[in-house]
Amino acid sequence: MADSKQKFRVAICGAGIGGLTLAVALARYPDIDVQVYESAGKLAEIGAGVMIWGRTWKIMTTLGLAEPLRRAAGGPADKDIDPDFGFEYRRSDKLEGHSYFRLSLPFISYLFHRAHFLNVLVDQIPSSIAHLGKRLRAYTQNSPSEPITLEFADGTTATCDLLVGSDGIKSAVRRCMYEGKAAVTRNAELLKHIEPRFSGWVVYRTLVPVEKLTKDGESHRIFHTPMMYCGYRKHVVSYGIAHGKLGNVVGFYSVPVDENTKYDGPWVSEVSRDEVVNCYVGWENEVQELIAPVEKALKWAIHELRPLPTYVDGRVALLGDAAHAMTPHQGSGAGQAVEDAYVLAGILGDPSTTRDTLLQALQAYDYVRVPFANHVLQGSYASGRMYEFWNVEGADYSKLPHAITHQWDWVKEETPEQQIERALKWVQEDSTSKLKQEVGEGGME
Ligand SMILES: Cc1cc2nc3c(=O)[nH]c(=O)nc-3n(C[C@H](O)[C@H](O)[C@H](O)COP(=O)(O)OP(=O)(O)OC[C@H]3O[C@@H](n4cnc5c(N)ncnc54)[C@H](O)[C@@H]3O)c2cc1C
Repeated sequence: MADSKQKFRVAICGAGIGGLTLAVALARYPDIDVQVYESAGKLAEIGAGVMIWGRTWKIMTTLGLAEPLRRAAGGPADKDIDPDFGFEYRRSDKLEGHSYFRLSLPFISYLFHRAHFLNVLVDQIPSSIAHLGKRLRAYTQNSPSEPITLEFADGTTATCDLLVGSDGIKSAVRRCMYEGKAAVTRNAELLKHIEPRFSGWVVYRTLVPVEKLTKDGESHRIFHTPMMYCGYRKHVVSYGIAHGKLGNVVGFYSVPVDENTKYDGPWVSEVSRDEVVNCYVGWENEVQELIAPVEKALKWAIHELRPLPTYVDGRVALLGDAAHAMTPHQGSGAGQAVEDAYVLAGILGDPSTTRDTLLQALQAYDYVRVPFANHVLQGSYASGRMYEFWNVEGADYSKLPHAITHQWDWVKEETPEQQIERALKWVQEDSTSKLKQEVGEGGME
């Protein structure tokens, strides 16, 4: 039952980086009741690195998370940030490697251990609102005046006024949303947005302690400069995390696929050192040194979503990977999840948003977020092709630097704050024009 001081009740389904950021951002509005439902028995992330860009860091700062993140995860103090941050790109698939480009970005990146990052968010959430072991199976949304009902795999149910599906790439909320839309519109084409598609990329992810990457007292270059080691249809990304104690080593290879290829086998499996080493035989020494100490790695078949036409169905919204799971070539999936969360919270928390205006509020979220996040999804895919010399630029070193840099333009485009402002203005204009229409039709007599 809703507390009379609360304007509406939000259920967040999925407590990854996206869902938890939304819970933290909504906690700033005590008149919104928030409950988080998570399928896992505990809130945890895998052992790997994650990088976030200045846009995301700014949100973390606004949410009061900059200091805890710095303490837990070793994010640099603002004064220590290299304003000329960038990856060094090398051609590495021969014994003689060479650098061909330094991506110099005027917008800073922060490198974290994922578990540290998630723990900082978990610490902000009162345990009373986190419901673990709750796997959503489906939701039912009838008339706008009735609550939405959530059905969980354990047979229990819950209700809310607004449901946010932050339940990742295999989202049950997205499945339910798009099955419903396809049935209502009799458009079976919409069903193709339910299943993620295999991107063609397979990735090995592992962490290596700095001691194993130190020779004659000198630590590997990745601890000083984030590196992108490139080869034809393969590349290795590596940088230091956790106060420089760990090297994040991420090796990719790609296979040609058509749009509807299904990946046979598990999406994630543990593989031996030999498999990783064999993938990069003949590469330059610097890469061999990075891979030699690997003991085992997680192998991921990278899937992505075909860009969704909408993230919203009535009072249900998708966020993060549930809405726009993307390839990791711009290190931006988590960042976009955080942006979705921050923008959505900003719209919902505005005094003009009430239980009666939730439909418009979510339309406004859709209006600003769909083009932006879908653009990042598509740019990320194109970037991966460029790193592996199979985009239109091929291995033309005179064209690649410009093409790769251009893919990052979005980072300095409309800020999340500007998106909130534009969304709220859109709601305002929408209701003004509806009011005018009603007056014109004599509806206000
Ligand atoms: C190799 C690789 C490297 C990457 N590197 C970066 C990077 O450097 N920077 C970056 O920004 N992004 C990166 N990403 C992308 C990033 O990991 C994701 O975009 C991000 O974690 C998505 O967060 P999320 O909260 O939307 O989803 P998730 O992290 O998938 O969280 C979803 C949550 O929902 C829960 N759940 C699932 N189903 C249900 C259900 N039915 N009911 C209830 N709960 C459910 C899950 O248990 C999980 O806790 C990378 C991805 C890969 C694969």
